[in-house]
Amino acid sequence: MEPQTPTATRRVLVAKPRGYCAGVDRAVEAVERALEQYGAPIYVRKQIVHNVHVVKTLEAKGAIFVEETEEVPEGEIVVFSAHGVSPAVHQEAAQRQLRTIDATCPLVTKVHNEAKRFANQDYDILLIGHEGHEEVEGTSGEAPDHIQLVDGLDSVDRVTVKDPSKLVWLSQTTLSVDETIETVNRLKERFPTLLDPPSDDICYATQNRQVAVKELAAECQLVIVVGSQNSSNSKRLVEVAKDYGADASYLVDYAAEIQDAWLEGVTTVGVTSGASVPDDLVSDVLAHLAARGFGDVQEVESVKESMRFALPHELRKDLRAG
Ligand code: SF4
Repeated sequence: MEPQTPTATRRVLVAKPRGYCAGVDRAVEAVERALEQYGAPIYVRKQIVHNVHVVKTLEAKGAIFVEETEEVPEGEIVVFSAHGVSPAVHQEAAQRQLRTIDATCPLVTKVHNEAKRFANQDYDILLIGHEGHEEVEGTSGEAPDHIQLVDGLDSVDRVTVKDPSKLVWLSQTTLSVDETIETVNRLKERFPTLLDPPSDDICYATQNRQVAVKELAAECQLVIVVGSQNSSNSKRLVEVAKDYGADASYLVDYAAEIQDAWLEGVTTVGVTSGASVPDDLVSDVLAHLAARGFGDVQEVESVKESMRFALPHELRKDLRAG
């Protein structure tokens, strides 16, 4: 590895806020506290949050991750992930007499509630999101006869509605803010009476992490985003970094994935992380970069965050009793 630029000119800009959001913090703590309270194993339906390292760490402590509730032995405890589940999953769990702890992020639950309310008023709901994403599956399950998925600009032309005067859009919580605005504008060209959601569905954490990366991207030749490939909000950070001026941006789970070739000719590296990423993984990236001459680290803070969510009530009740 031969440095091509003098060490003194190399620096790292670290985005703030980055990493864990309130919903992820709550979901991960819910599994940890459930393991302490009830003992291993604790079953978790789907990845509790979309991060490889978090899942491995919880597995090592005794969590068992399954794809569906039918894989959980009857009577056992299952935690539902931060991305939320459809009512059908709650029913299946009840049929199997599972004890459930619902770690759905309250901001995802808010979107579920909006979907139910508009469906009850007989609205057609255009749900902007990514096909196959667990959150989209959960939200769609609240009102399958009323919800149509709009995944990208191309799908706008395929939308069909019963009554354009009763039409609302909602969205997945972890989308690109800019792309969503573009999709909504295109939808409004087709359906001028399209109603906006009562409040932002893209959550505060997704928005703030995008604002933070926009602030530093133009100064960076390279932006490294720590996060997993199946993490929607992390992938959006890579796109935003490139859209806002970074020459290149890569998503990595671990520091060891950073290739020395990415750093050739680079003087400023931006670093951020998705909402499901513990900060020690970012520290590892900073150490990796420091070892390659990028020891000058500055944090660029764009928004202050103080959001916290209480643990799921089923768990709180038992913790109090304990
Ligand atoms: S990214 Fe947003 S919606 Fe998802 S868990 Fe975090 S706060 Fe909740």
